[in-house]
Amino acid sequence: MSLAPLTRRRLLQAGASAAALAAAEAPLTSAAFAAARKRKKADVVVIGAGFSGLAAARALTAHGHRVIVLEARDRVGGRTQNASIADGKAIAEVGGEFVGPTQDRILALAKAMDVGTFPVYNTGSNVFIARGQRTLYPASTGIPNDPEIQAGLGALLTVDAIGKEVGVAAPWKHAKARRYDGQTLAQYLATKSLTPTALTILDAVCEAIWGADPGELSLLYVAQYVAAAGNAKTPGSFARLIATGGGAQERRIVGGSVVIAEKVAAKLGDRVILQAPVAKIREHDGAVTVTTDGGPTVVARRVVVAVPPVLAARIAYAPGLPAAKKALLKAMTPGSLTKVEAVYPTPFWREAGLSGQGVSDTGLARVPYDNSPPDGSVGVFFSFIGGKRHGEWAALDPATRRAQVLEDFVRFTADERARTPTEYLEKDWTTERWTRGCPVGHFAPGVLSKHGAQLRAAHGRIHFAGTETSDYWLGYMDGAVRAGERAAREVDARLSRRS
Ligand code: FAD
Repeated sequence: MSLAPLTRRRLLQAGASAAALAAAEAPLTSAAFAAARKRKKADVVVIGAGFSGLAAARALTAHGHRVIVLEARDRVGGRTQNASIADGKAIAEVGGEFVGPTQDRILALAKAMDVGTFPVYNTGSNVFIARGQRTLYPASTGIPNDPEIQAGLGALLTVDAIGKEVGVAAPWKHAKARRYDGQTLAQYLATKSLTPTALTILDAVCEAIWGADPGELSLLYVAQYVAAAGNAKTPGSFARLIATGGGAQERRIVGGSVVIAEKVAAKLGDRVILQAPVAKIREHDGAVTVTTDGGPTVVARRVVVAVPPVLAARIAYAPGLPAAKKALLKAMTPGSLTKVEAVYPTPFWREAGLSGQGVSDTGLARVPYDNSPPDGSVGVFFSFIGGKRHGEWAALDPATRRAQVLEDFVRFTADERARTPTEYLEKDWTTERWTRGCPVGHFAPGVLSKHGAQLRAAHGRIHFAGTETSDYWLGYMDGAVRAGERAAREVDARLSRRS
């Protein structure tokens, strides 16, 4: 390629920095030319093209701001992803997929992108496996008719009251914040006289929700999370977190949730730059310079960091973030959760009147769902494996864990056909470099009451989004959209004041 001499004027037009200009008197080397071409200017840089970053970019663009989104991966959607199954005739979601009532912002975004939803298969009976016995209970109730389990779930539901007390805006400010944050959910449940079976089932429930066990979760964090499972008009509740009908697992997205992210990204067009992992954010002279590994360098007036806290902590900030903010980001531990999915010619469990849902006190796969496409043209059965169960699963060799998971599927369906799927998928998000665990970051005791004020706080020209910073539905796609929109409002307000 021949190099046209790059003049000072042309560099200025390209938005080059003063440092680049100083070196611009002589014709440029090819490396300097490439660097100059990679320098971009915007009003706002958004880091991360998950739901949160894309929602922020969409809102800011609608307000007329020039936005660049820098995404580390070669795809958008972050913790949502489709796997192609059945020779490309269907998809199975391997990340976030369910939506439900009060998740207003993700539902509004789906509608705006002309993407539909459909109900999760919730017909017939769920399966309850405990103490070596398999029994059925109506999918419509969603809760086993077992007195021990009813008592256990009843104990979990008492967290609703704590959630109402502490609220979603600033739970760390509540008078009892330190008391609640001084104990784990396990310690709280230990005061409720529950049986070992009930506690084992509650472990399975928490492992599916957080990818973590009750012993790892601060009670204050859980109370905040429960309070967040609603909206400004409808108080959050544990029941809404675990329910299918009327709850967080009520519906799915036609074509897979990632389609919404892809459509938002398509509308943003070349504002979204893939394979551009951000390494450094430098604030200087009324601007921010955002440097990527191998991608462009962007100079902007403000930046929105919309990546999981564990990854936000790995970006180099100059000047450094306040110690409390760094402590908060580092302490928000991503969960350990995987989805194991088996594909069959048909959803055969439906023939036996089974919904595909249930809960078990045994095996690796303890919380299953029917994940078949809306027309049921193939059968997809999946289960979450989270928390300590995830550790057990990950330590096994692939053939053994597949055999054990399929054994669990046979136990749930009571049908040997479950042992011989046409395809078997597993997605371990803990090994994904740009996620490092899922579905959400959580706090052990002692962090939220101390550093909670840092959760959504901006520092200088750096604003923070990502589902973990949401008021409602933190941990969910809805929370991601809400947090992105909130960060966009913050930035818009500052840019409108020309700061
Ligand atoms: P992310 O999706 O993590 O997006 C962050 C983006 O930033 C990523 O694309 C990442 O590649 C990028 N990135 C990271 N670091 C950098 C960097 N340094 N530079 C540039 N880019 C970077 N939610 C639901 O609502 N319903 C569910 O049923 C549900 N189930 C789930 C099941 C699983 C297995 C998983 C994984 C998640 C689930 N979730 C569910 C959670 C939901 O997917 C997330 O809450 C949501 O997608 C988070 O969006 P986000 O934009 O905040 O973060």
